[in-house]
Amino acid sequence: MDSVVILGVPSDRHSSFLRGAAKAPARIREALRSGSMNMWSESGRDILGSGKMADVGDVPDADGEDGYDRVVEAVSDILSKNNRLLVVGGDHAVTYPVIKAVTAHRGPVTLIHLDAHPDLYDVYEGDHLSHACTMARIMEEGLVRRLIQIGIRASNGHQLAQARRFGVETYEMKSIRNIREIPMTSLEPPVYLTLDMDVLDPAYAPGVSHFEPGGMSTRELISFIHSLPSLIGADLVEYNPERDPSGVTAMVAVKLMKEILDRMAPE
Ligand code: MN
Ligand code: MN
Repeated sequence: MDSVVILGVPSDRHSSFLRGAAKAPARIREALRSGSMNMWSESGRDILGSGKMADVGDVPDADGEDGYDRVVEAVSDILSKNNRLLVVGGDHAVTYPVIKAVTAHRGPVTLIHLDAHPDLYDVYEGDHLSHACTMARIMEEGLVRRLIQIGIRASNGHQLAQARRFGVETYEMKSIRNIREIPMTSLEPPVYLTLDMDVLDPAYAPGVSHFEPGGMSTRELISFIHSLPSLIGADLVEYNPERDPSGVTAMVAVKLMKEILDRMAPE
């Protein structure tokens, strides 16, 4: 089989500021099925109607004590059948077990990380698995070949030092003039995308736990996704339905999913 499998990971117990991201997979599926938009990507493909996409539901009890292992197991099961993977979080802590399983099956990946925050804390509020520590854990274990962070605008002294220590390549929001100028064409495969919704300006995507003004527009982000090479996997994290009463951010998430799936879909 060579399909793209969608997996929900309803987990927010490692969120530092607000809970709510665990409700994201259900709300995103609801938006997906609402009939509000068709399922074609902008490149002109019927992404979700192609018959090559499968939604296997959520990781059960993802916020239980053995949530980490359950995520590793669910991702391993999908990858062992030769599928590509789109994970719908959950907070950004879910990316650590996902990348753990992805590299076990595919070897070290080139990791593209879109986020307002570098998530490089050694420890945050006593939690080594905090969503603010995900990239530190991934780099310590040598799980990726390169970590390329894009859209960062909320770093600090500790995380800048961590970025230097780990050799992270950073494109801060303040220095991005044209998103299409970030070179994405000659990346060594396999390439994996982790997308924290708060990379967008909160004006475009208010349904996130951490409002960090000065971010990307939805159009810029979509243009960036279009510039990516073929992806073996991706995750979309940090959507928080508790902060999205109008549902607009759920639709942004669905739109982004379609464009990401386009970068993964079998030709
Ligand atoms: Mn993040
Ligand atoms: Mn973030």
